Parts: sequence; C-alpha cells; structure tokens
Amino acid sequence: MPYKPGDLFSEHGLKLVVGGAGPWVLDAEGRTWFDSLSGMWLTNVGHGRREIADAVHAQMSRLSYAPDGTVHPATIELADWVAALAPDPDSSVLFTSGGSEAVETALKMARKYHRNRGESGRFKVISRRGSYHGATLACLSLGGGGSNTGVEYGPLLPGAVRVQGPDEYRPILSDLECALEIERAILNEGPETVAAVIGEPISAAAGVHTPDAFYWPAVRRICDRYGVLLIFDEVITGFGRTGTMFASEHWGVVPDITTVAKGLTGGYVPIGAAIAAKHVADTFTGAHSPFNHRFTFGGNPAACAAGLATLDIIEREGLVENARVMGDYLYELLLELYDHPIVGDVRGGRGLMCAVELVRDRSTREPFPAGAGLQAAARELMDEHGLLGRGGDIFPLAPSLCVTHAEVDDLVARLDAVLRGLGRRLRYAR
Ligand code: PLP
Repeated sequence: MPYKPGDLFSEHGLKLVVGGAGPWVLDAEGRTWFDSLSGMWLTNVGHGRREIADAVHAQMSRLSYAPDGTVHPATIELADWVAALAPDPDSSVLFTSGGSEAVETALKMARKYHRNRGESGRFKVISRRGSYHGATLACLSLGGGGSNTGVEYGPLLPGAVRVQGPDEYRPILSDLECALEIERAILNEGPETVAAVIGEPISAAAGVHTPDAFYWPAVRRICDRYGVLLIFDEVITGFGRTGTMFASEHWGVVPDITTVAKGLTGGYVPIGAAIAAKHVADTFTGAHSPFNHRFTFGGNPAACAAGLATLDIIEREGLVENARVMGDYLYELLLELYDHPIVGDVRGGRGLMCAVELVRDRSTREPFPAGAGLQAAARELMDEHGLLGRGGDIFPLAPSLCVTHAEVDDLVARLDAVLRGLGRRLRYAR
C-alpha cells in the first residue's frame, strides 16, 4: 500500500510498532501484542535477535557490496549451507531479493533448462488455483490466491494453466483426482509445451490444506512421465516452518527446483533463492548455454550474513525440532476450540502452520455471508485481545519457531477469547 508523507497510519487500520522480542511486538503506546503470523510467515527466529543485527552490521562495515566480477565469501558460504540442507544436497543456489523474484527465477530456469535440452517449445506452467506465488505479473498468473486474484492486472502470463488443488475440508476432488488433474492438464496442453508444475507443498494462501501422503509422490511421477519439471515453492514452508527443514521431506519428494525466501533471514533482511537440483543446474554448465539471469541485490553480502546468522540460530537452538514439538502442542490445543460452535475446521499437525476456519453452520460447512461483519468483528476482537495476524473466515496460526509452551498457551487463550466474542456477536454463543 503506498503512503503519502503525513498519512495517518491509523486511517489504513495500521498500528505503529516499535519493538519486539520472540513472538511479541511492542507498539508505540507501550502495549505488547502476540504476533500470531510471524509477520507474514517469516520472523521464524522471532523478533529482536541481536546476533543477526550484529552480523549485518559487521558485514556492512567490512564490505557493503561485491563489485561486478567478484563474490563475497558470505555469499558462497550461505549458498553451500542452503544447498547442503536442500532436498538434493548437490543443488546450486541462485540468490534473489525476495520470494517473487525466486519464483520468477524458477520459471525462467525451467524454460531455459528445456531450451538447453532442445525442447524450446516448453513454456507453460501448471499451478493450483488459490495458491500464492508472489506479486509480479508472472507470479500473479500462477495462483490467484491471497487477496489478489490478478484479474485486475490482466492479461497475465501466457501459458499459465490452473488446476484444482487439494482441500480436505470442502473437497471438490479427492487428492488423487487432483493429482490426475495435473496429468490431464499436461495432456490437454501437449506435454511438449509444458515446462513445469509449481506448487506450495502446503498452501498457506489456499487455507493451509495438507495434501495426503500420496498426492505429491503422484505429482512427482506424473512430472517425470512427461519430462516436466516440478517446482516446490517453499517460500513459507522452507527452513523449519512445518517441523522439517523443507516441507518436501514430509512426502519424500525431491523437486527439481525449490524456491525459498522469508525464513532464510527470519525477515531481518530481504532475501530469496531458487535452488536448482544438480541435474537442472548441470544443463547450464560446460558446453551448455549459461543461465543468464541476475538481480542487483541477489547474493548481497549483508543479506547473506543475515542468512548465515539465521541458519546458525535455527541449528543451534534446534528450531526445526521445536517447530515440530510446539506445532503438535498448538494443534492439540486448537482442537479444543471445537467447543465454539462457529469453529468448522481446525487444521494443523505439520509444525507451526495451523489454521482455524469459522463457519455459520458446522453441519453444512456453510461460511458466514459477506454481510455478517465477521471480518470487521474479528479485527476488533483481535485488537482487544492483543493479537496480531489475520482473522476472519480463516485464522492462520504460524508463530515464531522459537515459541515456548507458555507462549503457545497464551496464543490459544487469546484466540479462544476472540472466538468467544465472535460467537456472541454473531449470535452463536456457546
Ligand atoms: N511464494 C509464496 C508461497 C509466498 O507465500 C510468497 C509471499 O507471501 C511469495 C512467493 C512471494 O514472496 P515475496 O513477497 O517475498 O515476493
């Protein structure tokens, strides 16, 4: 949202925040809030980490930018570390400034991969409706999820083909049929025209629905059958959010390209990356035509120093394991919220990535009508109970990976109070 100088932030419904520690944020009036969404799914190591600020400061003091034709050791070290953690440890890493750039990079990489292998007709990308892959025009063409369907910005990227994704609460198709939809789309479009399938292993924008154990392995097999690359967008799920380093591990699937961003620097400094499995990266080396693609801030030494400090915290404090343990605990507590008649579905069980969906009628799963005022009431009640994040039909819950049992208790107590208030206002009191 653009601001004019002097705009009152409150006119936009924004709070002025000035500090933070762990999952807590301090506003300008000295009130403490619980950050239930880790900013926008990214402050995974929590707010107020002095060591990340120190690492960035030290790096900027030494060298602010690696001039053309040079590289800083921090960039190499972070690339090595990310590759070692990646689903294919022999991967190559190309840094960007954020998630959208990472996805754009993956899309171009997929096209170039096929071109270098003599299949320049492959340019189409199959994605799942309702997912979110970023704000640039190409990214917007893919999912149409979140608050931006992309309709107002068309025409979008040619060759973007959307299919139905898994939704275990209101299934339009079974997960297996969803996978087969991808195969049908490839066949309809002509395999010789399809470059890649892209998906978030667990889509936040589509409502935190976890596909069953067979979906991603089936999609992997389909991609292999038709020579199509599989891109996992792990911008949210990467670096521990789901209780494993990468969410792909839950399905035992190795994607051809993985995109990451947010959690890599815990939100302290902008960063992103496209991680290419070895067989993809190899098509750009030696006698092959290189992947000519670069962003000015890709691999920025200060961003990489922040990434190194962040990964160090994640490893040293065992935050991936903590996300798994606290995620299970959070999910267990959230299940108690079924006491509220307005709670239709509680989703979770994969680390600290949960959601509570509200409905007007639990038996029919009918959502509240737009005129019910749910969104505004949720906002007001979240303010009253000191809860930052998103609320309305769906309350996504993704606190920092460093949360404690006591903090999870606190988060759920606040949400419980919000739901009680909503129940009263919407005449569905317990
Ligand atoms: N991909 C996914 C799955 C995301 O959730 C987002 C942002 O929320 C993006 C890509 C785009 O990242 P960025 O906002 O850093 O450009």
